[in-house]
Amino acid sequence: MLPLSPISDAADAVFLTCISRILNVALRNKLAAVKNDIIRHDTEFVMAGTSSTFFKLASHDSVGASVTKAEMISVYDHQMVPPASRGRVYYDRILALTKDRRCPLCGFGQVSTLDHYMPKTQYPGLAVCPRNLLPSCSDCNKAKLNSVPNCASQQTLHPYYDNVDGEIWLHANFEKRTPVVVEFSVEKPKTWTTITAMRVRHHFRAFNLARVYSSEAASELEGIKERLTNLVDTCGAADVKSHLAEEAKSRAKAGKNSWRAALYRALAASLWFCHTGCKG
Ligand SMILES: [Zn+2]
Repeated sequence: MLPLSPISDAADAVFLTCISRILNVALRNKLAAVKNDIIRHDTEFVMAGTSSTFFKLASHDSVGASVTKAEMISVYDHQMVPPASRGRVYYDRILALTKDRRCPLCGFGQVSTLDHYMPKTQYPGLAVCPRNLLPSCSDCNKAKLNSVPNCASQQTLHPYYDNVDGEIWLHANFEKRTPVVVEFSVEKPKTWTTITAMRVRHHFRAFNLARVYSSEAASELEGIKERLTNLVDTCGAADVKSHLAEEAKSRAKAGKNSWRAALYRALAASLWFCHTGCKG
């Protein structure tokens, strides 16, 4: 999970820009009249983010007294997503928040869409709230669908509010047999609260990260097998260990809990792998 800073635009400014090209004047005026409700929903969302209490946000069927859920979803679908729409500038800026377009939810896929942290079908007041919109790969977007946190431990991590990259928590594990099958697990650092550990594990499950990382690790091992075999045969296991440790250090620069950093840490730490397992 990669921490990010959100775009700084106010929720009402984004909302008013989105609706500014709606041709139906009555509808446009009705939407503009709920501007303060949009600000309130954004304020409540930011407070929930800073206190990790998204699960306490109340779902709602309308915004203000008059704007329906369908009308708010339409603002997002027709005034923010289409390339020629007025709100698309915000959509594109959120898409571009990550380095190399890497998905902040899995740290792996390519960003291709925006994900509503709190689904617009149950929280229409947050449909175009920039703090509720996350750059996401299509797999993460599909994995989460319309799930809503119902307690503190069932909240997936939110890249604008949660930064868990201060300590190492992602670990790769494998048995001493070839081909090496790597599994990934979340292990709680001592400084974390139980709730933080439960949230990270929930995030890991919600986005199927164990399966995805294990599959990527298998490809990575296949790709480095020949090189490591040559290295152990010509220079010995100590050089293999040194090479793997350097890789781990280098990969950690992109996030110490990236799957590659965890993989290379585990490989470098295994005498069996450096002597024998590296040959596949
Ligand atoms: Zn993703």
